[in-house]
Amino acid sequence: MELNLLTLCYLLGSLSFIIGLKMLSHPDTARKGNWVAAAGMAIAIFGTIFLYNEDGVKLGNYPWIFAGLAVGTIIGTLAAQKVKMTAMPEMVSLFNGMGGACAALISIVEFRHLIHTAQLGLDSSEIKLSIDTVTLLIIFAGLIIGTISFSGSMIAWGKLNGKVKDLAFNGQQMANNVLLIGILAFAAYLTYNISNTNFFWFYLIAFAAVLYGVLFVLPIGGADMPVVISLLNSFTGVAAACGGFLYDNQVMLTGGILVGAAGTLLTILMCKAMNRSLTNVLLGSFGGSVKGEQQAVTGTYKEISLSDAAICMSYASKVMIVPGYGLAVAQAQHICHELEQLLEEKGVEVKYAIHPVAGRMPGHMNVLLAEADVNYDALLEMEDANNEFKSTDVVLILGANDVVNPAAKTDPASPIYGMPILEVEQAKTVIVNKRSMKPGYAGIENALFFQPKTSMLFGDAKAALQKLVAEIKSV
Ligand code: NDP
Repeated sequence: MELNLLTLCYLLGSLSFIIGLKMLSHPDTARKGNWVAAAGMAIAIFGTIFLYNEDGVKLGNYPWIFAGLAVGTIIGTLAAQKVKMTAMPEMVSLFNGMGGACAALISIVEFRHLIHTAQLGLDSSEIKLSIDTVTLLIIFAGLIIGTISFSGSMIAWGKLNGKVKDLAFNGQQMANNVLLIGILAFAAYLTYNISNTNFFWFYLIAFAAVLYGVLFVLPIGGADMPVVISLLNSFTGVAAACGGFLYDNQVMLTGGILVGAAGTLLTILMCKAMNRSLTNVLLGSFGGSVKGEQQAVTGTYKEISLSDAAICMSYASKVMIVPGYGLAVAQAQHICHELEQLLEEKGVEVKYAIHPVAGRMPGHMNVLLAEADVNYDALLEMEDANNEFKSTDVVLILGANDVVNPAAKTDPASPIYGMPILEVEQAKTVIVNKRSMKPGYAGIENALFFQPKTSMLFGDAKAALQKLVAEIKSV
């Protein structure tokens, strides 16, 4: 009876993950979707704690379990409350790394358990014969994928908060590939030649996988981090699914597979958005492969006054707003929405052009604008936006830089070369709001700012928009 109740808990948990994930795909339902999935996770956790029972033996270790739950809940709640929206990717990376570490720890615990159980009453040559190969393969898969995800995510976390710098050396890609092949080959060898003397080699594989995770992410710089973060996310999902296989636990399996699949799909979409092939990503070191001198950006830029910008936008037929990381930093989404409504009242058509990697996390701009109740239908994806720039009178760029940098199309030596961009220069007029001429995330100059049709409107996005709204009201 208890087992059936537990199976029901797992079924509810699995269903809630699927429904929650579906709800996450639209801003209107995303918040509730998060709660649905969290509730399912709570059911699965507490169901396991209180209902698990194998041959009359309950889970036990309750003080440890509840102490762990309490510590995790406090840290998670405080971190989620305190984190700034712009630091969200760092937190995602950190938490993802913890997930990878947990999956790797499961493999370590199960490996030890397996060897100890197998060696009771057997000598080492018999142990080789008594361990199930599939179980061992899953243990190694969980160990390798989990540790790579852990160390890779830690490096990504360090890079996103600026504590870890890019590091690439000649032949790094080759070294990475040799290391990965070595890890896989050695794990396969151990799987078929297992004995109770293999602990050292098992831990060596874990160490080598940690090293691979570090070397894999270290050279990746510039605009390529989003792809890596979502790839590492999918690794953690797959590693957790390995744990689900080992424990024959359906909810862990479903959760892991969903995270793995969602992360993989997001990686593919990101690769497409950045014009990278998945193989290129999987082989690693793609960000460091830029060769040659970058083209120098020269010329002078011109500024536009608030009143001129206000007139220009008020008398336009169509305005396209391009939000970027700076809009998130300034928390200017609400005043941006006010500007949009004001212009619409004046009969101007206003849309938003959303680049898939604008900001610092996948979907960052969508979340930001949804927070300000911007109508989802007003948001155009990159391809649609690029089709509409020709018929746009004014493009207003708010704290975006890399995603509108023409070097992605024109300079093969640029770190963002090949990444599709928002082709704002096709519009009649471009107004760029940022605080200075400093570069964006990729650290490169932007020739767009020096083009004849571009004017700079300097200042913090929120303050500038507040003044602009006031000016437009008086036009
Ligand atoms: P960028 O980082 O290229 O540029 C942001 C610009 O905003 C800066 O040039 C900065 O200029 C300006 N800015 C900063 N603060 C303010 C402010 N308060 N008010 C007005 N402007 C401000 O941003 P994009 O969105 O164009 O591009 C995103 C970049 O981040 C891409 O390179 C992408 O690959 C990368 N990335 C994306 C991730 C994702 O998942 N979306 C994850 C990790 C990286 P100034 O200092 O002069 O004001």
